Amino acid sequence: MFVALAAVFFTMLTMTLLLTAVAVWCLSLGKPWPFGSMANSGLVLLYASYLAFVMFGTGPTDVHDYPVADNSQYAAPWPTDARSCVAQGHRSVVSHRGTHLHAWDFLRPMHSPILAARGGRVVAQLDSGHGVGWFEGNHITVDHGDGSSALYAHLAQGTARVQIGEQVLQGDHIADVGMVGKTLFPHLHFVVHDADGASLPIQFSDIGLPVAGGCYLPSSEL
Ligand SMILES: [Zn+2]
Repeated sequence: MFVALAAVFFTMLTMTLLLTAVAVWCLSLGKPWPFGSMANSGLVLLYASYLAFVMFGTGPTDVHDYPVADNSQYAAPWPTDARSCVAQGHRSVVSHRGTHLHAWDFLRPMHSPILAARGGRVVAQLDSGHGVGWFEGNHITVDHGDGSSALYAHLAQGTARVQIGEQVLQGDHIADVGMVGKTLFPHLHFVVHDADGASLPIQFSDIGLPVAGGCYLPSSEL
């Protein structure tokens, strides 16, 4: 709780400093406030707070925790010719904490395909939920057979293509992107857990270690 409050405080402080700097710069040069209307100022505030969030409110955890990308058994969980930007990365003040410390929120359009990042056996599947709210959303869990499992969350209703017990291969189309559960925009929440339910730091063979604010195209070279 203290860490979350501290992060919110620093985010507000950074926004205030940034906008004060712009205001002082305008005054000193005799220029008008550059962001015009209240609506534009609101947008600037939004971008400034997101920038501050990316800089201070989220990020990888200790980079030494991560296995190297070259040996990774994980591939990006969306088609290789499509780009995805990361809305929220690891260690985020918003919701990536505790057992979701090493989760990513990959922005993707509604109903675009979710691919298995790694092969394994489906051990949980729920796609009957609908709507946004603070409840467990639609998801699929794939057990990799070595104690680790991957969680794919916020699936669109009725789009799961696999059943519990089924074997999937890396790259299989398992469901479609939706916004069911704890989400305000269409995205895939992806996290890998160990056998005890702790979140595991991983990298992807094709996109390395994605960070908040970055956009990734799996078919491009690392
Ligand atoms: Zn998330």
